[in-house]
Amino acid sequence: MTDSQRRRLLQALGIGTAGVVLGSALLAPSAFAQTAPRNLLTRPVFDTDPFQLGVASGEPEADGFVIWTRLAPKPLEQGGGMVMRPMPVTWELAEDNGFRKVIKQGSTLARPELAHSVHVEIEGLPPARPYWYRFTVGEAISPVGRGATLPLASAQVDRVRFAVAGCQHYEEGHYTAWRRIAEEPLDFVFHYGDYIYEGPDTGPGERKMGGRPFTNLRRHVGGEIYSLDDYRRRHAQYRSDRDLQAAHASAPWFVSFDDHEIDNNWASEIDQDGTPPELFMLRRAVGMQAYYEHMPLRLRSMPHNGRMQMHHRAGWGDLLQAHFLDSRQYRSDQVNGDRDGPQNAAAADAERSMLGAQQEEWLYDGLQPDHHRWHVLAHQVGLANLAMKPRDGGDGVIHSMDQWSGYLASRRRLLGHIQQAGMTNVVSVCGDAHRHYTSDLLQDHEDSGVICSEFLATSITSGADGMGEDDDFTRTTRSLNPHLKAMIDKRGYVLCDVTRDQWHADLKILDRVMVPDEKIKTHASFVIERGQPGLQAA
Ligand code: FE
Ligand code: CA
Repeated sequence: MTDSQRRRLLQALGIGTAGVVLGSALLAPSAFAQTAPRNLLTRPVFDTDPFQLGVASGEPEADGFVIWTRLAPKPLEQGGGMVMRPMPVTWELAEDNGFRKVIKQGSTLARPELAHSVHVEIEGLPPARPYWYRFTVGEAISPVGRGATLPLASAQVDRVRFAVAGCQHYEEGHYTAWRRIAEEPLDFVFHYGDYIYEGPDTGPGERKMGGRPFTNLRRHVGGEIYSLDDYRRRHAQYRSDRDLQAAHASAPWFVSFDDHEIDNNWASEIDQDGTPPELFMLRRAVGMQAYYEHMPLRLRSMPHNGRMQMHHRAGWGDLLQAHFLDSRQYRSDQVNGDRDGPQNAAAADAERSMLGAQQEEWLYDGLQPDHHRWHVLAHQVGLANLAMKPRDGGDGVIHSMDQWSGYLASRRRLLGHIQQAGMTNVVSVCGDAHRHYTSDLLQDHEDSGVICSEFLATSITSGADGMGEDDDFTRTTRSLNPHLKAMIDKRGYVLCDVTRDQWHADLKILDRVMVPDEKIKTHASFVIERGQPGLQAA
């Protein structure tokens, strides 16, 4: 920091007045930075780079967005190797990546309570513009990230491009797909969840994956994660990856958690192991805190009493309205022991819910025919209701009890709402299943006709290289589901290119993630014509 920056910072810290703290929802975005704490470390000194976890931007609106970093000179050490005191961090926002035209700058505090993460909500910017940002702490300067403001709600917008990605098990491959996403010209990235995996280091030896022997590419540090420090260290390990950092720095992200940010297949206050809910809630609260600390989220999402506000909307002028959903925090527990099984009365129980009554009402309020050319449901697990053959080769078909197929009443209400509202411009994007699944969506009684379509994106790494599409599971699943138009077990992401009359999507894949730097390929491309629900081969 230069002397003049330091003077400006201390002035800013000295003259501010703190708002009355009544709960996180009432805090102004910059309220945390307005009073100089007594334990402030004004001149932090680092012997290694404190910006090893990179930078990120997220949750853009028409007048601003969040910029994020976390100071961690030794990412895997307790406290990230930081002195456990609050310290000033300054930020700059420029119209060019060389910072010749800096248009805003300011200062905030990195505090030990939030693992020295920094979330700045920048406001007052012109719409529909790219911006570049960076941070300074002590003498250290961060890498540069690129953010962008959304177009005004009233603007005519002709094109929006975004990637759908998630499921990035650290042990199971290189994050090459994130590098390729960083190289795409995108308006935003949607991360559908499984940003980290909570499981232990599975060791150096051979294990089984998809019935075949597999040896980890790299290894988790430590056992299964339970404490706040555990979750922070796991996030820090994942976030140390340069390919992932490149994707964060390249475009604004919208993020949502799925299950593994806390624990496999959790539902509301219930985990998969039968842990008493009041104990699981302790774990959930620290998992959520670490998630907030590591994501470019607005203050409205800061956990409060073990809860976290995640569902929200964003709009790109008159072209696209996105509804970001939270299908973990409010869902009913999975039925039938949460094992793939027959779709029985329990799976169709109308009392059970995927979104919770409040979120469902909020969704239907905004999911209405309006001036937007398209609406996208950006969420976590598949709506596609895919039938599978029982693993033991028995008769009949089975369904996932963790996906919407295990919450049939919620699925029927959602698809029924879209159809009754007369909406022929809805697209669903999600993930979780570690393969690409591209499907038309119909009611489960199938006489509804095609209501909308879904791009379920494959994983970034989870499942390692994958088996392609020449395996029994793919063949039988495709034969059982005529509305499933593409399915492949390879790593990658979905790229959506949305224009006024056509939604184009590419299923991107990598041949291998166990070797670095593979080229990206397009496995298949589809278009949806606005007003004509249903996938067409492109
Ligand atoms: Fe996953
Ligand atoms: Ca998942």
